[in-house]
Amino acid sequence: MQQNLLETPIEYLKGVGPNRGTLLRKELGIHKYGDLLNFFPNRYIDRTRYYKINELQNNVAEVQIIGKIINVKTVEFGKNQKRLVATFVDDTGQMELVWFQGHKWIRESLKLNEMCVIFGKCTSFGNTFNMAHPEIELMAEHEQSLRSAMQPVYPSTETLANRGISNRVINKMMQQLFLETQAKFSETMPDYLTAELKLIPKNAALFNIHFPKSAEALAKAQYRLKFEELFYIQLQLITKNLIRKHKIKGHPFTKVGDYFNVFYQKHLPFELTNAQKRVIKEIRIDMGSNAQMNRLLQGDVGSGKTIVALMSMLIALGNGFQSCLMAPTEILANQHFNGLTELSKDLNINIKILTGSTKTAARRIIHEELENGSLHILIGTHALLEDKVKFQNLGLAVIDEQHRFGVEQRSKLWKKNEIPPHVLVMTATPIPRTLAMSLYGDLDISVIDELPPGRKPIQTVHRFDSNRLKVWKFIRDEIALGRQIYIVYPLIEESKTMDFKDLMDGYESVSRDFPLPQYAISILHGKMKPADKDAEMKRFSEGKTNIMVATTVIEVGVNIPNASVMIIESAERFGLSQLHQLRGRVGRGAEQSYCILMTSHKLSADSKTRMETMVQTNDGFEIAEVDLKLRGPGDLMGTQQSGVLNLQIADIVRDRDILILARNYALKILKDDAPMQKLENAILRATYIELTKKKNIWNYIS
Ligand code: ADP
Ligand code: MG
Repeated sequence: MQQNLLETPIEYLKGVGPNRGTLLRKELGIHKYGDLLNFFPNRYIDRTRYYKINELQNNVAEVQIIGKIINVKTVEFGKNQKRLVATFVDDTGQMELVWFQGHKWIRESLKLNEMCVIFGKCTSFGNTFNMAHPEIELMAEHEQSLRSAMQPVYPSTETLANRGISNRVINKMMQQLFLETQAKFSETMPDYLTAELKLIPKNAALFNIHFPKSAEALAKAQYRLKFEELFYIQLQLITKNLIRKHKIKGHPFTKVGDYFNVFYQKHLPFELTNAQKRVIKEIRIDMGSNAQMNRLLQGDVGSGKTIVALMSMLIALGNGFQSCLMAPTEILANQHFNGLTELSKDLNINIKILTGSTKTAARRIIHEELENGSLHILIGTHALLEDKVKFQNLGLAVIDEQHRFGVEQRSKLWKKNEIPPHVLVMTATPIPRTLAMSLYGDLDISVIDELPPGRKPIQTVHRFDSNRLKVWKFIRDEIALGRQIYIVYPLIEESKTMDFKDLMDGYESVSRDFPLPQYAISILHGKMKPADKDAEMKRFSEGKTNIMVATTVIEVGVNIPNASVMIIESAERFGLSQLHQLRGRVGRGAEQSYCILMTSHKLSADSKTRMETMVQTNDGFEIAEVDLKLRGPGDLMGTQQSGVLNLQIADIVRDRDILILARNYALKILKDDAPMQKLENAILRATYIELTKKKNIWNYIS
């Protein structure tokens, strides 16, 4: 019954109006009554407790204090900058209230020498505390308002705060909303689920999330709404997967073919690990069906994804189809090209590479051979996406290091064909299970969770800059044993120039400490021409230089087994997954390898955790879990994908158990009743349709 009412534009709500309406739309994305209803508090505070000024501590959560304002003044600071400062006192001391904006309006509304309650966050400056942009309520008003031990706090923005839309105002709007709608909202979960999971009804959940009656009622409301949110996301992801499997045709590769068989029987350079065998089987089954494969292959650095890619491409070839492999950088594309050419040297297949620096003549040949079908496997960078690149029959697209490619870029690859190729996305950045479920719930996932035998775990240590002499001595010893060394400097977009200087300074000092002719040093960074990079890479890989000083351009994929020491400078400036990737550049040969994390003594708590995690474990999945906890899901996946994780109430880190439960239920229900046509699932279907109309966030996966 409420559905229509919830579609009402927000400005019609009493107390909102056009101006606030515009703000709510712009700042919070609240367009309609329904959006406000589903705008949930991000925490709750106890408004039954009052603090005294002498009890204040720095930066704790919001507090409320009873007292009065005894004077107000405008203070100038810096150039043309002003702030409004009021002195607030109670019987235990005094503090300052500060405003940076809206001076005139605030000054007029402040009442001096009247008892009032201020509310906000306190910070200490020297001996005094101050509260910026406090909420102020006169004692008389305050006594009339209802207070609970769990007052909701809604997410806000600076603009909203400056324009007077305080938490209290939102709270009033919410009360008005419940009044106008009579607090009757349609149920969105079927009876059998609410009964089985002991979920409270939707009405009760919405009421208690905004106006909690008790801590217990709030907990039940949160549980119900979190489950619902995660459940419907899973329902959508899994449905999408099912649709793809039924509707999107793929090329059925009916056999593994001769290329695969000959390679497997005669040219396999090593025994495959069980994990590799399992994954190849999964891929084979996918590609053998009539549906398009869309599979994510996760495997830690060095777990041996390349040979899996090759063998998958051999299946395509055996069925008469071309394949391509796209890598994020030229170095990597080259390395794949060399690696695959070597692996398949006895198979008599035509493999070529196409990158930004491929010469026109070579390009022309590639274009021709692609179109007439004589080119079997094309390896390259983004250059593969150019319009001129037309395959005769692309059957499989392998994408390495997936998180570096945008979504549109990926789909561009297969817009070229009527029937899309099978897609295998390989990533060495392990994605925690919960994140994978949320982000890639509609992809199939294979995991190589086993390293090839005989690898010695890399030993990782954390050293401070003041220990550099010892570290240098260690390097000399390793070089004397014939090993090679990487020294990596940070390269972060915002401080490119400074970083470049760090790198160059580093290179100079390394050159001084490791002088010619005894030592030879390579340098590699993003500003070099591709040809120079390749030349430098080649020198190092052929063992002509002992040390490679580089930025993170070597982060992904580079494979030089004789390099056994990775030194990471200013390691505190790297994220965990990047540190792990860098470390993965060593430990590729038979020798014991080392990773040395160099930092200054000044480390934040997070940086310390990162260093400790790196020292403690080599397991990429474990590291990814810590990373997820430290950085939150949005950051972890980059801004591009964080929108997807913009959940209203659930948190995939904290609510991991609910997520897993929700996924299992969604799977079970769809397995039994995929189009949700059973009578008992009518509510599911209706809510699902409503949701997919509104949100189109699932398009990010092509
Ligand atoms: P990544 O998964 O990081 O791409 P690669 O495919 O580059 O890993 O493999 C890393 C190294 O391990 C390569 O030198 C490769 O030849 C070797 N390798 C891969 N699989 C095996 C295996 N089953 N047994 C022994 N060595 C292997
Ligand atoms: Mg690789």
